[in-house]
Amino acid sequence: MVITLKSRAEIKKMRSAGKIVAEILALLKERVAPGITSLELDGLAEAECKKYRARPAFKGYGGFPYCICASPNEKVVHGFPNSSPLDDGDFISIDFGVIYNGYYGDAALTIPVGTMSAEKQHLMDVTESSLRAAIEKAVVGNRISDISHAVQSTVEYEGYSVVREFVGHGIGKRLHEAPQIPNFGLPGQGPRLKAGMTLAIEPMINAGGPEIRILSDGWTAVTQDSRPSAHFEHTVAVTEDGPEILTVL
Ligand code: MG
Repeated sequence: MVITLKSRAEIKKMRSAGKIVAEILALLKERVAPGITSLELDGLAEAECKKYRARPAFKGYGGFPYCICASPNEKVVHGFPNSSPLDDGDFISIDFGVIYNGYYGDAALTIPVGTMSAEKQHLMDVTESSLRAAIEKAVVGNRISDISHAVQSTVEYEGYSVVREFVGHGIGKRLHEAPQIPNFGLPGQGPRLKAGMTLAIEPMINAGGPEIRILSDGWTAVTQDSRPSAHFEHTVAVTEDGPEILTVL
């Protein structure tokens, strides 16, 4: 599949979409606390989209029924928001995207709920730093799997494991574009990175084994061993001046 390169004008539009995603995620993060439900967070995200005149990217995508993916604790990705209150000591991964002026932004983060265990904190920190390491590799002349390898080597060094079934992706006028960006692999493989590529890089990292299963709702991925999983994602533009994170405030 062809990887579309975006012009400066297109990247500018994606920056606007990305900023809205970042602002709404920051608001959700602020609201996360023991007692709130993920369904309330979903409602909040939908109301905010209206304010920004942006459309939630996930609602209706492939039949997904909500604005946010809400995946606490052992849930990996694609969790349905529900009405059970979050507990002190949980953490919750929220994945969220919008389409604005014809372009998508997509980001995710794992958020602590109240006071969290050292184990969860460390998994969260390592997953986020694997995303940072991956973004550093999103430079002209590198290859896609340099990004993949940066994630894998960062997290496996800490004894964590990479989910294989879901991958990052190109993004632009469509939510999922070429190329796929696995979070594992040897460096130096796959398409060469060019200025104008826009990539959603998204490590999904398990505290225990890499195996997952899908719940009967057909969407929610959970770890096979029920140990926690964390998820961080940014939409990033590859530019002549280096990687630019688009999903920032
Ligand atoms: Mg994504």
